[in-house]
Amino acid sequence: MVHFVGAGPGAVDLLTIRGRELIEKADVIIYAGSLVNPDLLKYARKDCKIYDSAYMDLDEITEVMKSATGEIVRLHTGDPSIYGAIKEQMDFLDKEGIPYDICPGVSSMAGAAAALKAEYTLPGVSQSIIITRAEGRTAIPEGQDLRSMASHGATMVLFLSSGMADKVSRELKEGGYRGDTPVAVVYKATWPEELIIRTDLDSLASDMEANHINKTALIVVGDVLDHEYELSRLYDKDFTTGYRN
Ligand code: SAH
Repeated sequence: MVHFVGAGPGAVDLLTIRGRELIEKADVIIYAGSLVNPDLLKYARKDCKIYDSAYMDLDEITEVMKSATGEIVRLHTGDPSIYGAIKEQMDFLDKEGIPYDICPGVSSMAGAAAALKAEYTLPGVSQSIIITRAEGRTAIPEGQDLRSMASHGATMVLFLSSGMADKVSRELKEGGYRGDTPVAVVYKATWPEELIIRTDLDSLASDMEANHINKTALIVVGDVLDHEYELSRLYDKDFTTGYRN
């Protein structure tokens, strides 16, 4: 049995209880060493076999899954549903008839919001979150490029893009965001070395360069970071809910 487990954004105590129990029981753990906090492995049994997938290709990973016996934990950073590359592993397991399940995790986008003390969805400002990335080696399907995404003016959380700040800033402005749209960069959210930069689209690239941030960061863009907003209807005293008349 293979368990895909979301490791959370970094801080060890942001692993779920279920995730920890799966790690404690595992015979084999394959973890994404480039982003998963290795301190999580302290929960593993002494005789657990541990592999770092940063040094492995897909064939090597699936070979371990196929040849291992017992409980296998595949530890992915954040929540595995976001840029987790788990589908190709699940398809392999389906073909081999190996059962698996998924244990969700706290995504780094939630870790970053907490670090920023931000709410991504403010009434009157943004009621949508666009989770996306700048185009790198992985091509972006037509209609989902940053310029098109920018046209909505929604809160945007950019993964995998901190090495392309220039391009992010240029394309988002071409798409319609103002140059002074607030931006926050969160490097290693919830890790001890977490760093927050507050800037705007015009200064994003130079501020990231000045702080030497080019990986393991999220770029959050939008007026929710610094703007007037309307109070939520949920707690409005003139508003009836299923719980309150
Ligand atoms: N599944 C993960 C994302 C994997 S893609 C999740 O839910 O968080 C890897 C990208 O996620 C990195 O390039 C970076 O943009 C972001 N990331 C992962 N952990 C991070 C953290 N602790 N702080 C900021 N960004 C992080």
